Amino acid sequence: MKYCLGIESTAHTFGASVVTFSGKILSNVKDIFTTKKGGMIPAEVADHHVNVCGDVIQKALDNARVSLKDITLISYSASPGLGPCLRVGAMAARSLAVMGSIKLVGVNHCIAHLEIGRLLTKAKDPVLLYASGANTQVIAYEGKKYRIFGETLDMGIGNFLDSFARDLGLGFPGGPKIEELARKGKKLIALPYSVKGMDVSFGGLQTNLRRKVESRKYKKEELCYSVQETVFAMLIEVTERAMAHCDKKELVLGGGVACNKRLQEMARIMCKDRKATCYLLENQYYVDNAAMIAWLGILQFKAGESVQPEKADIDPYTRTDDVVVKWR
Ligand code: AMP
Ligand code: MG
Repeated sequence: MKYCLGIESTAHTFGASVVTFSGKILSNVKDIFTTKKGGMIPAEVADHHVNVCGDVIQKALDNARVSLKDITLISYSASPGLGPCLRVGAMAARSLAVMGSIKLVGVNHCIAHLEIGRLLTKAKDPVLLYASGANTQVIAYEGKKYRIFGETLDMGIGNFLDSFARDLGLGFPGGPKIEELARKGKKLIALPYSVKGMDVSFGGLQTNLRRKVESRKYKKEELCYSVQETVFAMLIEVTERAMAHCDKKELVLGGGVACNKRLQEMARIMCKDRKATCYLLENQYYVDNAAMIAWLGILQFKAGESVQPEKADIDPYTRTDDVVVKWR
């Protein structure tokens, strides 16, 4: 049996996972950096990753009942993400690869979100709506690349939700708290709806909401309800247009915001209307996870890719469509 050890460290999550070459996920362990106040300071998050990486990797091996000598391949998230965080994962991967004379491969985190959807569902050629903290992209495969058909022009939807939640005094992460309050809201407050071609933006909405919160004229529940209805409609609109444009009949979701039940419901309704299928995953595979990094590593390795440890770099800014896809 061949095993891949995946290592994820693009942002707040340090994760490790063991996946067999046939796609069975044997373990999926993570430790997430959290703060009570303020956002993520990259150097602090990187310190967190340095502190937990040994334990997380050991636990992933233990849960899978394998040891390092059983591992055929190590896969790490090479891009995109926060430089200092990516470096910790790459360093851990390199060190283990040298120690155990194990093959090594670096992968793109956004593409991994799509490939784990293909592994875990019957989806063959889906569009991915990737809605996470820092990223908001609609991605699909065309002509040897994963193309970005639409994306945010400013902040990621998760960061937008978290900052709105902060304005409301709800704490971090804000997405789940907004979802909870939104269930109690009924009245739709008109909010700026910002779809520009295939892209979305949240900056204007953020300013508009800040004024509304400061005015104290609106109930939190109704603001949360209206925010969800508005921003999720924006995402679903561009996703639907991408599906129509590419003539694709399958949708998978990815990113932490994909855990949201209302977003899932809207995605399902849209797919039903156009006789497409919306595939949902367990939450552990929406949020940042190392199983998807391991699986994409396996796909790339089987297609003939690997990297020498001394050349195992990171790049915080590689875009989804910079990657040449050799495994499809
Ligand atoms: P990620 O960057 O993929 O790890 O996702 C983190 C983001 O997902 C944060 O901005 C969270 O607020 C957001 N998030 C997590 N759960 C939910 C939820 N149920 N509804 C909306 N956003 C969520
Ligand atoms: Mg992610």
